Amino acid sequence: MSDLRPLQEITHTEAIDLRRPELTIDLAALRHNAAVARQVAKGRKLLAAVKADAYGHGMATVARALRDRVDGFMVATLGEGEALRLAGITQRVLVLQGVMSQAEARRAARRFLEPVFHHASQIDAVGTVGFGLPLTAWLKLDTGMHRVGFTPEEFAQAYARLSALRGVRPNPNVLTHFACADEPDRAPTDDQITLFKQTTTECSGETSLCNSAGLLAYPHAGGDWVRPGIMLYGGNPFITGTAADWDLKPVMTLTTQLIAVREVQAGERVGYGGKFTAPATMPVGVVSIGYGDGYPRHAPNGTPIVVNGQRSQVIGRVSMDLVTVDLRGIQAQVGDTVQCWGDQLPIDEVAQAAGTISYELMCQMSGRVTRRVVEVSE
Ligand SMILES: *Cc1c(COP(=O)(O)O)cnc(C)c1O
Repeated sequence: MSDLRPLQEITHTEAIDLRRPELTIDLAALRHNAAVARQVAKGRKLLAAVKADAYGHGMATVARALRDRVDGFMVATLGEGEALRLAGITQRVLVLQGVMSQAEARRAARRFLEPVFHHASQIDAVGTVGFGLPLTAWLKLDTGMHRVGFTPEEFAQAYARLSALRGVRPNPNVLTHFACADEPDRAPTDDQITLFKQTTTECSGETSLCNSAGLLAYPHAGGDWVRPGIMLYGGNPFITGTAADWDLKPVMTLTTQLIAVREVQAGERVGYGGKFTAPATMPVGVVSIGYGDGYPRHAPNGTPIVVNGQRSQVIGRVSMDLVTVDLRGIQAQVGDTVQCWGDQLPIDEVAQAAGTISYELMCQMSGRVTRRVVEVSE
């Protein structure tokens, strides 16, 4: 008799190696950030962005934690919207990429999902059929992103065509998206706001303009709905300043362990490609995290990391399972906790060092990382 069981029967929790990286999701911080968004929204309704598995935080967990704090949710794809319904979410759900066929429109209608129409081919595809209850639709106006959406010139005709579809409620809601609201130069966003207002004067449905940066920095943008994403997760929506400037708390904390400490001699090089040369004999720590867990491979020498509560830095190249850190002047021993980012180190600092943004770090956490959901501080 063998005690081998089929692989799918071995649950993640049984298989946890205690040394492996752990992602802690703090729902109290999430709710705190939603309260901040609620306050700055000044009566406008909140559509929480939970696309991409809620920026890597777990879509069902996040949506359930926020369901009594926000007015609706926003996802990118129809499948994500259906997953929200299957998770028991009954609020309004906006689907940014909308539908591309009658079959998809029927799926959206069946689940009361609200598709965005951003391209004429979607209106063509839905055609003149009905779907039982008509769809509540959103029409996307391109005011400057030049990625998806109808141009101001195309807009009136698209609005009329969408309104006339049997399967869609007349007078669709209207949205636009800011390209540069995270940057210090305000002119591009002010122009987008003006163009939106000029183009939609005849529209009687609901409107929505703001992402997190727009919500925080452009209070005059207006709209019935705002669409915060990154701020809910405690990331800084701007390229300057910090999330703490806006009283936002980190929701995601990534920790792991120090698994070895060694002395490297002056002139010896550390890791693949020998990208770090010890300037003097020095202690080096080996940390159980790597790009196989979602830690950014491009994090260079000097990327901040917290070892046993003390700020240290990455040295040498990040590999699949391991990162090496500088232990000069740091009290640490094997088994100590290492925080890659979270409540002791803003994710934005790590993202900046690695040449990316917090959004990407959050989204790219791998399935190898153990997840723990907690409620720490509100
Ligand atoms: C993702 C997304 C948002 C949320 O953006 P944040 O910068 O995370 O606040 C809002 N609107 C649209 C159209 C999006 O795609």
